[in-house]
Amino acid sequence: MDRSRFVIESAEAEQMAKQSGRTVHQLLPSLVKSAQTLARPPISKFHVGAVGIGSSGRIFFGVNLEFPGLPLNQSVHAEQFLITNLSLNAEPRLKHIAVSAAPCGHCRQFLQELRDAPDVKILIASSDDEKENKINNNCNEKDQEFTPLSHFLPHRFGPDDLLPKDAPLLLESHPNGLSFCSDFSRSNTEGGEENLKNAALDAANMSYAPYSGCPSGVALVDVEGKIYKGSYMESAAYNPSMAPVQAAIVAYVARGGGGYERIVGAVLVEKAEGVIKQEDAARLLLQCISPKCEFKVFQCKQGI
Ligand SMILES: [Zn+2]
Repeated sequence: MDRSRFVIESAEAEQMAKQSGRTVHQLLPSLVKSAQTLARPPISKFHVGAVGIGSSGRIFFGVNLEFPGLPLNQSVHAEQFLITNLSLNAEPRLKHIAVSAAPCGHCRQFLQELRDAPDVKILIASSDDEKENKINNNCNEKDQEFTPLSHFLPHRFGPDDLLPKDAPLLLESHPNGLSFCSDFSRSNTEGGEENLKNAALDAANMSYAPYSGCPSGVALVDVEGKIYKGSYMESAAYNPSMAPVQAAIVAYVARGGGGYERIVGAVLVEKAEGVIKQEDAARLLLQCISPKCEFKVFQCKQGI
């Protein structure tokens, strides 16, 4: 396995499990350490890895990202990275996760946006057997056990409290029907920039924003012209929401992007008359991590 990959295809995952005499989900804890090596935590130096398996049988990695010079709330946690990675790869369901440290409250809340969230199984993969046994309440067995998310976050508050029962949730199809406002649709853009702009609109159309009604998307381009898209994803508890620029940076890291200074262009697409705005926060983050990055904003509208 290429150690820098963030997705393992299902056939390879099955083969790896077979070779080690385990089921695929039992394989997850053994991959957590290699996920941790991919983390980028220059502030805390605390490398977090989250490895999940989706309903397709593919395995996804998530890691934490920190950004020196910015407030800590701009950081991305490994579980949020993992969910973003599933979204980038159109994986509809998350079944099991193994993590290197107990999920924080913020991530337990963010995970509530998934369909059947209370049933997602979590395992804290620690090299310290004593700690592991304590956490898993599993003092008599050496086998590591997965525990439902409902154990980690009882008395949940989530989409069921705010949305209709049949509303599409995070990772489910929810086309937003966005198009560029006519005033901005073709203003002084050339081929390369047009591609970047359209990628940002695609990302905004995949955005999950049922609470604010303000979907948005960011597309980044690196020095080689490779484009990375990120969609805004909301939480019923608002604060744990994943900003579109962070989601695009997740795509950049997960798809082999190097240092952030290699990001040379960025486009944000958001609604013209939105109750929330991503522009200032996105500009702040991009200026900090890649000062030479050219950042543009285009406004869009919903419906015809
Ligand atoms: Zn967290």
